[in-house]
Formats: sequence, C-alpha cells, structure tokens
Amino acid sequence: MQQELQEVYDEVLHRNHGEPEFHQAVREVLETLGPVVDKHPEYREHAILRRVVEPERQIIFRVPWVDDSGRVQVNRGFRVQFNSALGPYKGGLRFHPSVNLGIIKFLGFEQVFKNSLTGRGIGGGKGGSDFDPHGRSDGEMMRFCQSFMTELHRHIGEHTDVPAGDIGVGGREIGYMYGQYKRLTNRAEMGVLTGKGIPWGGSRARTEATGYGVVIFADRMLNTVKQSMEGQRVVVSGAGNVAIYAVAKAQELGADVVTVSDSSGYVVDEAGIDLALLQQVKEVERGRLSDYVERRPGARLVQGGRVWDVPCTVALPCATQNELDHHAAETLVKNGTVVVAEGANMPSTPDAVEVFQGAHVLFGPGKAANAGGVATSALEMAQNASREPLTFNEVASKLEGIMERIHHKCASTAEEFGSPGDYVLGANIAGFRKVADAMLEQGV
Ligand code: GLU
Repeated sequence: MQQELQEVYDEVLHRNHGEPEFHQAVREVLETLGPVVDKHPEYREHAILRRVVEPERQIIFRVPWVDDSGRVQVNRGFRVQFNSALGPYKGGLRFHPSVNLGIIKFLGFEQVFKNSLTGRGIGGGKGGSDFDPHGRSDGEMMRFCQSFMTELHRHIGEHTDVPAGDIGVGGREIGYMYGQYKRLTNRAEMGVLTGKGIPWGGSRARTEATGYGVVIFADRMLNTVKQSMEGQRVVVSGAGNVAIYAVAKAQELGADVVTVSDSSGYVVDEAGIDLALLQQVKEVERGRLSDYVERRPGARLVQGGRVWDVPCTVALPCATQNELDHHAAETLVKNGTVVVAEGANMPSTPDAVEVFQGAHVLFGPGKAANAGGVATSALEMAQNASREPLTFNEVASKLEGIMERIHHKCASTAEEFGSPGDYVLGANIAGFRKVADAMLEQGV
C-alpha cells in the first residue's frame, strides 16, 4: 500500500480496536485506491480518505424485551450512519448473535461504495442487533422488533436514513418495525423502510432482487469470455433470501445448481436443487436443510465439510462474511471454476481473493455483484414517493439494466486504470470516486 494510504489505514487500526472485519474491509478498499488518489491531488488536500473511513454517526442502544416465559431479555442495537454524501443513509439491519459494532461498521463501509455504484442517490449505513432469531416464536419476534424500533425511530426517516433487511431480517420483521414506527410517529411514512409487504408500499421483485442480480452479474462476467450462465454447474452457499433467488435465476438461465447450505451442513443434489421444496422448507416452515434432504430422494446432506469441495464452474457465496478462505479458493481453482460472484457481503477472505485473481478466475466482489438488492430498495423508495407501483416485470427489467450498468462501470474503470478484468479495483474506484467528488463539492 502507498505511504499515504498506509497512514490512513494505521489511523483506522488505532481508532477502531478489536474490529477485524472493519479493518479488513477498509484495507481491501484502500489497497486499490492508489491510482485514483494519484490522479486527484484535491482528494488529499481535503482529507477525503481520512473522512471516508470515519462514520458520520454511530448509535448503540439497549433493546429490552420480554420472552414467552415472561423473562426480561436484553440485547444491543446498532445503527451506523456511515456516509450521506450521495443521499440518505441506506442499508440493511442484521439480527444475528455475531453482530457487534465492528461487523456493522464493515457492512456500513461496504454499503457506501455499493450504493454509489447503483447510481440511485443513496448514502450508506447499516444496523442490527446481536439478537438471535433462531427458535424464537412469532410473538417474541414482534416484541423484539417493536423494542428495537422504539429507540431506532428517532434516528431514521425517509430523508434521513432508510433501513431494510439483511441476515435475520425479512418481510415479517420489516412489518413489525414499520408498524411500531407508525405507532410512535403517527406518520404513514412509507419511504422510511424498504422490503415492505406489497400491499403497504413494498416493491414487487424486491425479495428476489439480490439473488437475481448476483446471477445477472455473473452472466455478464461470463459474457466477457464468450460464455453465459447456460449449462454452467453452479455451487451456491447459504439458503436464505439471497441464495434462494440466486438458485431461481441461475436455473431460469439454464444452469445446473447442485448445492445450498445452512448451519446444519450442505446439500448436494445432483438432479438440481428443487426450488419449490427449498422455498417450502426455508421460507414457509423456517426449517433446516435436513428437512429438505428427508423429502428429496437422491439428495444428501454433508455435515462439517465445505461446500466449496463440490466441483463447479460458477461459485456463488451467498451465506456470510469470510465463509470462503484461501484453501477453499485453491480447491475451486483446481476444479476449474471460471467465475465467483459474491451474493453475501465480503464472503471471500483477502487471501482467497488473491488466489482467484492470481489464477485469472473472474471475481465479482459483493459491493458490485450483490448491489441489486439495495438498488431495488431505491426503486421501492421511488414508488413510495410517486405512489405509482411498478409491475414485477418492470422492476425485474430495471434491475437487469442496473446490474448491466454496474458491470460495465466496474469493467471500464478497471480498464481505465490499467487493470482489465479486475472487478475489485473497478468497483472500489468507481464507487469511491463518486462519493469523493460529492464530499469535495459539499465542503468540509
Ligand atoms: N442488506 C442488503 C445489502 O447488503 C440490502 C440493503 C437495502 O436494501 O437497504 O445491500
């Protein structure tokens, strides 16, 4: 890393103790920004880099709630409002026991550049709680969401900060939070949250958007080497919202998807993942993949292994951060993987990314490849403002156009800076440049 960028990174290490995921996300971006900083001395003069790594505001709060046995539970809530240069803070809420301030900051930092790439005028933020939804009843989920919003509501608004879902937060949770926001504010302010139900301001195809977008992005990467998704053998990790709709889109484009995974292990289904059964088990029953395997002859559940051992030409990590390390990357390279597109945020470790790039595997980083979700959230905000809902096909075709433009922007920026095919550099520089210019124009 260049001296000046190293100094910014050292300051981040010094200021943010015990936040390895945040350090990792910052480092990965700074490592690619050298050429753009050289080209723009004004970024240095105005300390853009030192400002861009420091969140504008970080909110930490207590979330007390009563469980089904009448006991009072206490969780911790977070909202990091990272950067508003391009628009209101925008980004999901994650409910998972691993959540801490460093994880929310890494996600918020990534979101700034991702949202910039969408071209929809949205800043970056992220939030969540260390609350574990697993095994909680519907009543417990509702009381937790209400308590979470009781504090969060004073910090958000359609022109201020617009949360959505992430791991552990889907349509049900957004509904409970939106209900509480209305109760507290007496405002039917639809644009305050995205991922809402269709009858009360949600966008069609928002649920599908992230997974669909990842596959469209992978398809465009394949097009650069005169291939497409058709006939590819695809390994997907995860079995949540992103994974499910990545499976759906890949199958629609004629690929063979042979795996999904969750905390119970990974499924290998050589006949192709049965999408309807997967949705029944995960979305309707909120069950485990062991339930899938029980009802699907020929499919097997592998416990304790790595889904990346299953040979494939296209790998779509759609579970969580750092789920794919350099050992897994080496296995994928050895097995002839052509494309890796990240459905999750930062699922590949820095070592794994290095392995992919060294072996000329086409690698689409999450902030570009999974931007279709938040881009469709921006379409939801637009529909809320205009009160003119779009059809499923209208949203899906806008999404395809947006993914196409993001792919083009990453590829052309990589070329402009002399690294053709480097989507990491392309995404970081293209995302950063727009935020940096906006910050310059808005003054210190
Ligand atoms: N949590 C998603 C992401 O990582 C979506 C955020 C949103 O729609 O605001 O981009």
